[in-house]
Amino acid sequence: MNRVLCDVRGPLPGPTLVGLGGMHGNEPAGVRALEAVAAELSGDGLLRGRFVGLAGNLPALATGVRFVDRDLNRIWDVEGADDTAEATQRDELRRELARIRADSDGPIHLVDIHTTSGDGPPFTVLGDTLANRAMALVIPVPMVLGLADALPGTLIDSQDAAGIASLAFEAGQHDDPISVEHGADALWLLLGWLAMIPRRDLRVRTPRRRLTRATRGFPSAVRLVHRHALESTSEFRMRTGLRSFAAIKRGEVLAEEDGGVVRAPASGHILLPLYQSSGDDGFFVGRPIGQSWLRVSEALRRRRVERWLRFLPGILPEADPGSGGAAAFRVHPFIRRVFFPSLFRLLGYRATPLPDGRYLLVRRSEPDEVEVPPPDSQPRSSEDVNAPTSPPPKVTRDA
Ligand SMILES: [Zn+2]
Repeated sequence: MNRVLCDVRGPLPGPTLVGLGGMHGNEPAGVRALEAVAAELSGDGLLRGRFVGLAGNLPALATGVRFVDRDLNRIWDVEGADDTAEATQRDELRRELARIRADSDGPIHLVDIHTTSGDGPPFTVLGDTLANRAMALVIPVPMVLGLADALPGTLIDSQDAAGIASLAFEAGQHDDPISVEHGADALWLLLGWLAMIPRRDLRVRTPRRRLTRATRGFPSAVRLVHRHALESTSEFRMRTGLRSFAAIKRGEVLAEEDGGVVRAPASGHILLPLYQSSGDDGFFVGRPIGQSWLRVSEALRRRRVERWLRFLPGILPEADPGSGGAAAFRVHPFIRRVFFPSLFRLLGYRATPLPDGRYLLVRRSEPDEVEVPPPDSQPRSSEDVNAPTSPPPKVTRDA
């Protein structure tokens, strides 16, 4: 399998949609979905812009395992090579993304397509920025906030700082053929939203109907309230028959671990219950978020309320040129406890504990706040020296 599954360009300039499949080698449905969409777009299927499909972990995809040495989707916050297969994969993907960026005329949107070991409806996972939310709202499936904060080093988490709107789309169960269809549905909806294909096209309307039907009865948005992390040595066995988004009650037995039982620490919805041998997370618990919360937080962020936070007691802005000191704060634990859930979270901050007992609150950047370097200053790999100078052919498919 090639890294670049497809690279389709429309006759007019426009946005770029990048789809990634197979970040985990046992999740080939994303690759299949990208291939299916590219096959329909080739010829003159794309009105404007550019649609690129990338394959994630090539050696793991070749053998059908989640990863070779370590999880490729937990090392995007790390720089520098090590001797794992995944560090090489990450660096190759970074170079590919830099090349795409240097050669795109419009804004870039990225969707990372995954599947799950357990059964459940499709859903999106995103860092809580307005740009990412706008993208997620196009796909009529539950939106999960807070999961991207609980899992450091994911690809989508690394994109906010680069000014690229992104989300992960969980298409369904690994081996369920419908997961390929759902992955393609998400891509068609995004292509329509970005006006890269006609918005009233059947290729947009049918996916919307199908995903709406597949997620009927599920909450439209949930926030992560608990992550059950696993030690590498722990013997973990999920109770059978739990689906993502199933309602759970506090105290309910969810799994067996090292001879004991694991009970739900809170009522809510179970997310990503682990039904495979590899993975660092047993399950997550989410709670529904109201539409009013989403609306209020959007209004506050549009009014740039974070500019006034520095006047609260116990809050020290962290030096950060370019954001007027509003992107990061160092706060006392008491301030975090009192203000974080009600105020900082509404404004899109996340909290990291510091060694001195305080917390660092950092806000993700919106794409329009990120200065994109001009193409000339992009890192160029040696391969580019030999790249043709003529425009690329309209359609290149080498899946
Ligand atoms: Zn995955």
